[in-house]
Amino acid sequence: MIKITDKSLCCGCTACMSACPAQCIVMRRDREGFDYPFVNSPDLCIGCGKCEKVCPVLNPLEPSMPSEALAVRSGRYLDGSSSGGVFPALAEQIISEGGVVFGAVVNDDMTVGHAEAYDMAGVEKMRGSKYVQSDLYAAFEDVRYWLSEGRTVLFSGTPCQVAGLHKYLGESNDKLVTVDLLCHGVPSPGLWEKYVKALEKKHGSRMEYVRFKDKTDSWRHYAFTTSLGSCPYIKDPYMALFVQDMSLRPSCYNCAVRGGRSGSDLTLSDLWSVQRCAPEMSDDKGVSGVYVNSEKGRALMESLAGVEAHQVDMELSRIDNGGFHDPVAIPEKREEFFQGLHSAEDLIKYMKSYVVRKPLGKRVCRAVRAFLSACKKKILK
Ligand SMILES: Cc1cc2nc3c(=O)[nH]c(=O)nc-3n(C[C@H](O)[C@H](O)[C@H](O)COP(=O)(O)OP(=O)(O)OC[C@H]3O[C@@H](n4cnc5c(N)ncnc54)[C@H](O)[C@@H]3O)c2cc1C
Ligand code: SF4
Ligand code: SF4
Ligand code: SF4
Repeated sequence: MIKITDKSLCCGCTACMSACPAQCIVMRRDREGFDYPFVNSPDLCIGCGKCEKVCPVLNPLEPSMPSEALAVRSGRYLDGSSSGGVFPALAEQIISEGGVVFGAVVNDDMTVGHAEAYDMAGVEKMRGSKYVQSDLYAAFEDVRYWLSEGRTVLFSGTPCQVAGLHKYLGESNDKLVTVDLLCHGVPSPGLWEKYVKALEKKHGSRMEYVRFKDKTDSWRHYAFTTSLGSCPYIKDPYMALFVQDMSLRPSCYNCAVRGGRSGSDLTLSDLWSVQRCAPEMSDDKGVSGVYVNSEKGRALMESLAGVEAHQVDMELSRIDNGGFHDPVAIPEKREEFFQGLHSAEDLIKYMKSYVVRKPLGKRVCRAVRAFLSACKKKILK
């Protein structure tokens, strides 16, 4: 029977909950705002051990190296996607074959969770990175259902969600394609939900929409935009704490599944080193690095119409991208930050007080780079 004694050893993938034949596991939120499995009716447990067998942290997959790195973008889907718009192009292909697509959406109440789509209107809501751990609900059971119906399924998520799905399903299935994201960590859903409420209180109105990575003006210097306002991402305390690794799930500092251990067919990333790898695509509108992990992934990439794709040097493609390195270190004040969260009178002020300001020289350089990038875009227009 699964029992979480060390939170760094649970990525919250829900595989154990979904696999339990007695349905005695629920996901329960902790004080930091992350969900963990909990056996709420131990008397129903039949001791089958399935919950432990399907855990991708207890039974990690073998690491594998991608066979190829590509610089890719889809002209049609560039606007509104986080990097090169590869995900919607993949989804469109699956939908055209009568398949079902799973991905993360922002719900009407601003919570983030996985949904399934049968048409491009459904896929539209999945576009764009949501910097919050997505609630999977019963997505794994739903994937199994559609596969049993003979439908093709595209499942996209973080490496731990993809690894959990593979463990839950057990055997490989030709009809399933999995796509993960290069991931350095996910912030707390509880923190995000509290932050939404604090912003709504401050502005006296409801948040109607959010774009965590709004690259309308610049991909590199993207904005955090909601119906309540917009600012450079680094000036928003929620986003600043995310990029400074303060608000990540404990398992992200000890990640057991990234680095080719998710079993995904394709891995999508931001190709930050595009200027060196594929300079002809470097125009600050967004380019994806796509890593081909299987023949199924390669076949899907080759079937896409209307995308620009170039093979690039594997090593060069990894430069400037934290998602490739070892898991990030736990910031010294992380525990203190989460402990004080619930008693903070002014949440926004409290969050700002934990943002580490870069030295003045670095901030000036950053502002100059953002200014030059904006000037270049205006000249090109
Ligand atoms: C939490 C998080 C951290 C990331 N960290 C890095 C990084 O360190 N380095 C890097 O190169 N790239 C990172 N990415 C990935 C990158 O920003 C792009 O999402 C990716 O390149 C796909 O872009 P796209 O333009 O092809 O698709 P888009 O149209 O932007 O599609 C977004 C895709 O991401 C999925 N998604 C969005 N939010 C979540 C979520 N919270 N949980 C699970 N799936 C989600 C959607 O289902 C969809 O498949 C991260 C993404 C997320 C969500
Ligand atoms: S041992 Fe079996 S029945 Fe008990 S919690 Fe785990 S999966 Fe459920
Ligand atoms: S990592 Fe996944 S399978 Fe393992 S205990 Fe956590 S939720 Fe369950
Ligand atoms: S860093 Fe690892 S544990 Fe954290 S969300 Fe990403 S894949 Fe999951």
